[in-house]
Order: sequence, then structure tokens, then C-alpha cells
Amino acid sequence: MKFVLPGDRIGSSEEFFKGNGVYEEQGELYAAIAGWLVVNDKRVEVKGINRLAELEEGDVVLGKVVDVRQKFALVEIDRKKGVDRDLVRKEVITFIAPNLRDFVGLHDVVKGRVRGNRLLFEDSEMGVLKAICSFCRSEMIFEDDKLKCPVCGNIEKRKISKDYRRGVW
Ligand SMILES: [Zn+2]
Repeated sequence: MKFVLPGDRIGSSEEFFKGNGVYEEQGELYAAIAGWLVVNDKRVEVKGINRLAELEEGDVVLGKVVDVRQKFALVEIDRKKGVDRDLVRKEVITFIAPNLRDFVGLHDVVKGRVRGNRLLFEDSEMGVLKAICSFCRSEMIFEDDKLKCPVCGNIEKRKISKDYRRGVW
């Protein structure tokens, strides 16, 4: 199944009938919500993502950013704090913030708190634990209040956790 985010083009209204979670604009169909795309006999709908069964409201989790759009990022959850093993079934969870690109980058490792099917970075502990350079994919270092790539010298912005690269979470 394909994962879509609000605004993703799904197809034309000639190819498909519009179902739940889909809107039409000038003959084109777009996802109205984040979720899985389901096509059933030409009827297309977006099924909203459900929170992982293993996760509860307020849980602190560790995950990896697998997609970044303008206002949304997708984080694949690997671990839950207090449970000493990887989650059996990995699930994506959305992270939403204004100026998202100043918050997280693709392939970053992040720590956040579960709220609904979203992840919050609200206090100093939460945020990016390991940032990956968007140019050369090296692990970035944080010094003098700047996040810098030791390989290509690129400087980027993130919402850094106070545990950045400390190996703890
Ligand atoms: Zn770099």
C-alpha cells in the first residue's frame, strides 16, 4: 500500500471515483489527509493512519525520518522508551510543524512524544538525536550552536534534542 500526504496527487477524476479522504480540484484528485491509499474498483480513498497498537498517548519514542514534505514529515518508529527491544511492527507517524525543514531532515534519528498519530518535540529532551547532512549524508556535529557537516562543511538547522549525539535517549 502506498502512503500519501495531504496534497499528494492521486490521479484524475476520469480514472477514479472520489472516496473518503480525497478531494478534487480541476479534474485532479488529491489526498486530503495523511494515510494509506486504497483503490477499490476505481473508487479511491485515503484511510487515515492509526497509531501503533503498542504505542500509547504520551509515550516517548525513537524513530527515523523517512519522508519530509513542506508541512509534514514521516517518522518510522523503532523503539519505545522503557521497552528494551525494537518494536515488532514498525509504523509511520506524522510530525507536523511550521517551517518543518528547520526542524527535521531526511534520515535523521529523532526522539518525540506520541500525541494521537503525531509526534511532538515540545521540550528540550525531544528533537533530533542524530542529523544527517542533506548534501553528503554524513552525520552532522553540533558545536558553537551550529549544526555542521564535518565532511562537506554544510550548515543546517534542526530542532536539536539536548541529548544530541550523546548516545542516550
Ligand atoms: Zn555533508
